[in-house]
Amino acid sequence: MPQSQKILIIEDDRLQFRVTERLLANARMARFEVDWAQTFEDGLKRLLTGAYAACLLDYQLGARDGLELLREARAKNCHTPVIFLTADSSERVDEAAMEAGASDYLVKGEITPRMLERSIRYSLKLGEAMRELRRLATRDALTGLLNRRAFDGLLAEEVDRARRLGHPLALVVLDLDHFKTINDTHGHPAGDAVLAAVGKMLEGEVRTIDRVARIGGEEFAVLLMETTGEEGLAVANRLVAAVRGRPVEVAAGVAQTITVSAGVAGLPVYGEGEVVFMAAADRALYQAKNGGRDRAVLAS
Ligand code: GH3
Ligand code: MG
Ligand code: MG
Ligand code: MG
Repeated sequence: MPQSQKILIIEDDRLQFRVTERLLANARMARFEVDWAQTFEDGLKRLLTGAYAACLLDYQLGARDGLELLREARAKNCHTPVIFLTADSSERVDEAAMEAGASDYLVKGEITPRMLERSIRYSLKLGEAMRELRRLATRDALTGLLNRRAFDGLLAEEVDRARRLGHPLALVVLDLDHFKTINDTHGHPAGDAVLAAVGKMLEGEVRTIDRVARIGGEEFAVLLMETTGEEGLAVANRLVAAVRGRPVEVAAGVAQTITVSAGVAGLPVYGEGEVVFMAAADRALYQAKNGGRDRAVLAS
C-alpha cells in the first residue's frame, strides 16, 4: 500500500485550524497535503476512509469530543495514527487519549513547529510498526494467506452478518491428498513449496472479496461471500480441477501432480453459527476423502 501523503485536521474552530495549518507549513511537513474537517461527523467519515497518513484531532468538537470520535474510529478498525490537540493539559485526558489509541497528545498553546514535526514523525513510524505487527499476527508465514486465528475471527463475523442480513455464504475447506507422501518422497522443503504453490493457486482462482486462509498444516479454507452452497460447490470443483491441472515442481525438473479434496457448506442451511458451519464443511470433506479424494462434496 503506498504511503498516503495527506494529513487530516479535525477542528471545529476556523482560526485554530489556520494556526495548526501554519504550524504544519513551518514544520517541514510541506510534502503533506492538508485536509480539513470541521465537524465530528465529517471528521469521522473522512478518517474512516483510511486515506490519511495521520490525523490531528481537536479534543473539543462542538457538543461531542475527539475521544468519542477516536474510539468510534478504532472500533471500526481504522488504524490511522491520531495526535490529539487540546486546549489545556490534563493528565486525565492525556491518559484517556492514550487508552483510546492516540499516538500523542499536544497542548495547543505550547506547540512549536519542531514539536509537531517530531510528533508526526514518531506517529508515522509507530503506525508502520503496528501495521507490520498486525500483518504478522494475521498472516501465515509460508503462504502469506490469512492464518487460522484471523480466519476464525473473520468466519464468526461473516456468519453473523450473513445471518442478520439473510444473505448466502459458502465455506470450502480443502485438504491436500496423500500429502505425507510428498514429504516422505521429496523432503519437507519440497512439501513447503507445494503448500505455497497451492495457496497461490487457490487465491488466484477466487474473487478479491473472497478470503483464503491456511487453517492447518496442509489444510486451507475459502470463504465465498454472497454465495450459496450449490454455487460454492461449483467453485470448489473449479479449485480441485485447478490444483490437479497444475503440477508443482518438487525437485529440479520433477513436476508432481497434486490433488486436493474439498468439503463445502452453505448458509443459511447451516444457520446455527460458525462452529456448526465449519463442522458441516469438515464432514463433507471427510466424505470427499472417503469417496476417493480429488473431488468436492457439498454438505447435505
Ligand atoms: P490424506 O489424503 O488423508 O489427507 O493424507 P495426508 O497424507 O495428506 O494426511 P496426513 O494427515 O496423514 O498427513 C498430513 C501431512 O502434512 C503430515 C505432515 O507432516 C504434513 N505437514 C503438515 N504441515 C506441514 C508443513 O508446514 N510443511 C510440510 N512440508 N508438511 C506439513
Ligand atoms: Mg474545538
Ligand atoms: Mg489434513
Ligand atoms: Mg491431507
